[in-house]
Amino acid sequence: MEKLVTVVGGGLAGCEAAWQAARLGAPVVLYEMRPQTMTPAHTGGDLGELVCSNSLGSNIVGRAPGLLKEELRRLGSLVIAAADAHRLPAGSALAVDRGAFAATLTALIRSHPSITLIRQEVTRIPDTDSGPVVLATGPLTSPPLAQALQALGGQANLFFYDAIAPIVELDSIDLSIAFRASRYGKGESDEGDYINCPMTEAEYDVFYDALLSAERIKLRDFERPLPREPSEGPESDSAAAQFFEGCLPIEVLAARGKKALAFGPLRPVGLTDPRSASERPASERLASERLASDRPKRRLHAVVQLRQDNAAGTLYNLVGFQTNLKYGEQDRVLRLIPGLAHARFVRYGSMHRNTYVNAPALLLPTLQMRAASECRALSEVPGTWASDDRVGATNLLLAGVNAARILHGESPLTMPPETMIGALIRYITHAEARGFQPMKANFGLMPPLESPLPKNMRGKRSRGEAYAERALAALADWLTEHPLQAVRIDV
Ligand SMILES: Cc1cc2nc3c(=O)[nH]c(=O)nc-3n(C[C@H](O)[C@H](O)[C@H](O)COP(=O)(O)OP(=O)(O)OC[C@H]3O[C@@H](n4cnc5c(N)ncnc54)[C@H](O)[C@@H]3O)c2cc1C
Repeated sequence: MEKLVTVVGGGLAGCEAAWQAARLGAPVVLYEMRPQTMTPAHTGGDLGELVCSNSLGSNIVGRAPGLLKEELRRLGSLVIAAADAHRLPAGSALAVDRGAFAATLTALIRSHPSITLIRQEVTRIPDTDSGPVVLATGPLTSPPLAQALQALGGQANLFFYDAIAPIVELDSIDLSIAFRASRYGKGESDEGDYINCPMTEAEYDVFYDALLSAERIKLRDFERPLPREPSEGPESDSAAAQFFEGCLPIEVLAARGKKALAFGPLRPVGLTDPRSASERPASERLASERLASDRPKRRLHAVVQLRQDNAAGTLYNLVGFQTNLKYGEQDRVLRLIPGLAHARFVRYGSMHRNTYVNAPALLLPTLQMRAASECRALSEVPGTWASDDRVGATNLLLAGVNAARILHGESPLTMPPETMIGALIRYITHAEARGFQPMKANFGLMPPLESPLPKNMRGKRSRGEAYAERALAALADWLTEHPLQAVRIDV
């Protein structure tokens, strides 16, 4: 039997993986279920159809999404080449003529001599005896295949919706206001596992009012998380009925009453603000002592806790803050939390349907499944990249490259962690498996810069440029060892 690479799903990720494997000499079979079986969001049969917006985000190399694109460009990404060929005027963003973009991808895949396109829904994990399999069925993986994945990776390792809390960079948190501690001192590290943002009652009131009045994103029915109980359909009147109880958006919980947060995720119990009366400046101390002479410690009304989010300890997520507020509103409201006034958000919160696997539990940095027999089988999985980061999905370039290498008996590759692709893959394979959520490209994922930037270069952009310079140098070194031709598409 001739060995080949099987790719399931003809979205951005699947097209990229199939193309990369084929151009490295592997025969490829690509399965796409549309147009016979549609997803709830796609409208046609073309490969690489962009649902929702036609933008692939920033194209500026000094910004994280722009750097990711530039790396993919240099690695010979088919998707980025097709996007560049069908670019529309959109300032610094890479926006495309979506019809022409998808038609080009479809034509290139269909006419590739080593790729066979089969229009058929795949309902079980393909047999890996015939060669490596790349699963690239995305956030709307069809239900039978999702069930098969559940059986393969374990029920606990396949998720059906994002409940994403915002993430900030550690060095942008004001630690003269926020303090490190674990509740009741029960933590793994001596200094405390959490960063705590303390709120007085007055601060809580201001935050609470802003949260309740902030504008929310309107989700379409199929984008909503699954109902709490199977009997509760998405048509239920209650917003809360559409979410699992343990995972309510912060604004939905707040709407239950003023105390819901202060007695829930923001409860201050077991925590003491070290800025107690005796540690505060004399002027403040006198005032507070006059008010509460029998209570030396500052009384906390509520506390927002932040938990470490990456192994390097540079990113922290806001515990319990999954939310459907508009991004601009999150930026405004969350800065009212004491200590976060100048926070740099690397990800805002969101909640919607997204089938994705628990990558840290299941994947190796080569994008192979850990448990697959001899680690040669499944190279990738659906929806592991942030659901609003379609360029992230193009990282499946590495899965395609590795599928071809495995087929040819060569060892699979990893990407340098200094690159944005390497940093993203490192994150999804090394993050805390419990509560794992997909992640967008951001500089906080990268190893910190070795030397601090000169004072006149400390702006956000300059910092980004320094990361980008280091990333592209690391990529150039990698490419001298593993040459991949850049792709050019003339239209
Ligand atoms: C409603 C919605 C809106 C979005 N809006 C944005 C946005 O504005 N910006 C952004 O960056 N990202 C957005 N995303 C996320 C975006 O879809 C992904 O980032 C990107 O499409 C991921 O690419 P992919 O190839 O992994 O998945 P997809 O593009 O979804 O491709 C997966 C393909 O697999 C096929 N497939 C599924 N199951 C099977 C099966 N069993 N057998 C065979 N084929 C199968 C599907 O038909 C599809 O063609 C949105 C997602 C959704 C669902």
